[in-house]
Amino acid sequence: MKKIDQPDLQNPPTEEAYFTADVVHFDRMIEHANGGVHYPLHPSTQYTYNSVADLINVFQGKSKGNSPYSRQGTPTTAVLEAKLAKIEEGCGAVAFATGMGAIAATFLTLVKAGDHIVVSEHLFGNTASFFNTLENLGILVTRVNATAVQNVAAAIQDNTRIVFVETVANPGTQVPDLMAIGELCEQLNIVYVVDNTILSAYLFKPKSVKASLVIHSLTKSAAGQGQVLGGVVIDTGLYDWQKYPNIFVNYRKGDASKWGLQQIRKKGLRDMGATLSSHAAHQISLGLETLAIRMQRSSATALTVARFLQQHPKVAKVYYPMLEDHNAYQQACRLFKAGSWLFSFELVDADQCLDFVDKLEVFIKATGLGDTRSLIIPVAHTIFWEMGAQKRQAMQISDGMLRVSIGLEESECLLGDLAQALG
Ligand SMILES: *Cc1c(COP(=O)(O)O)cnc(C)c1O
Repeated sequence: MKKIDQPDLQNPPTEEAYFTADVVHFDRMIEHANGGVHYPLHPSTQYTYNSVADLINVFQGKSKGNSPYSRQGTPTTAVLEAKLAKIEEGCGAVAFATGMGAIAATFLTLVKAGDHIVVSEHLFGNTASFFNTLENLGILVTRVNATAVQNVAAAIQDNTRIVFVETVANPGTQVPDLMAIGELCEQLNIVYVVDNTILSAYLFKPKSVKASLVIHSLTKSAAGQGQVLGGVVIDTGLYDWQKYPNIFVNYRKGDASKWGLQQIRKKGLRDMGATLSSHAAHQISLGLETLAIRMQRSSATALTVARFLQQHPKVAKVYYPMLEDHNAYQQACRLFKAGSWLFSFELVDADQCLDFVDKLEVFIKATGLGDTRSLIIPVAHTIFWEMGAQKRQAMQISDGMLRVSIGLEESECLLGDLAQALG
């Protein structure tokens, strides 16, 4: 029988034993006062030590110990980070206040003016917008169709530092050529950053396709109940930071596997400050306990609902990686345990899409993803409005595209609602 690991907060074990058993038994295996089966919540903004020498040693990085000031993390966020590193089979993690905080901190700390990055053209809108900001700071950005590795390879330059993709793109569900891009980055010594928000570590581990860093918006799959924001960067341990030119001399000390995250924590949390609170970290920890069962249930329902829509005469097209007509169907079946809660679709009569959404009674008209409730939103009119028609077209977002996030409701309930609104 596999056993539940004793967690080591500094060096999380890098292989999966169980998933849910590991998560729900994690807290009680760490030493802490009073024997609570949940790790306690630490609201303090500052921490003291037995002697002034200990205080100085922590500041100078000579001893581990709690972060002296909570902007760089608390004991509660440290436990969440260790749990997230464990489920992604990584060697460490840094948590942030939001997914965008994690993405911004990663790029702003690892690239500088004159560097080049290659990013997928199929991205969450705010991430795409952030790359425009990077361009204004003098970072060169090439956007490519990452569903074919040749497009990524053709964009690589001598000064390319990072390749960035989403495992399943929000909202179009495009899947990049994950393994081939991983092999390319490995060969060229480029950092491969993978946003795994939609699938979660339960359905897919980017480490298996050679990702260097894995990013999540914890707001979605991980927390899972639409009531707390969070983000994380996890180091898979595969990238050799000794070969990365932009690690500051102060962080080129000690165990090289920690250099990347050390810089992301120091610059990204300490200097930029998008810090996750202990209270939010605790809520996200609770979400992780039900992650596997929620992902199983919402993925199964999403497939049922996607199939129903696919055969409906008033629906033109459904985009879901687990449907046989999806471009990445073979790859998705090979790599992912299931397809997750996200899909999008278009009506035959695109002009009817807003009326159709208004007729729904169970699906909630709202942005957001990975909630326990099913959500629907017309994307061109809302989350992708600001970028304009031309960019939407380049990202393959039609005016009538509807994005769905499937919750935990019974599938019959959702099918009935869609049937009445289509009828
Ligand atoms: C929501 C989302 C983000 C941003 O996360 P926030 O927690 O909302 O800041 C990043 N990437 C993807 C794929 C997302 O869906």
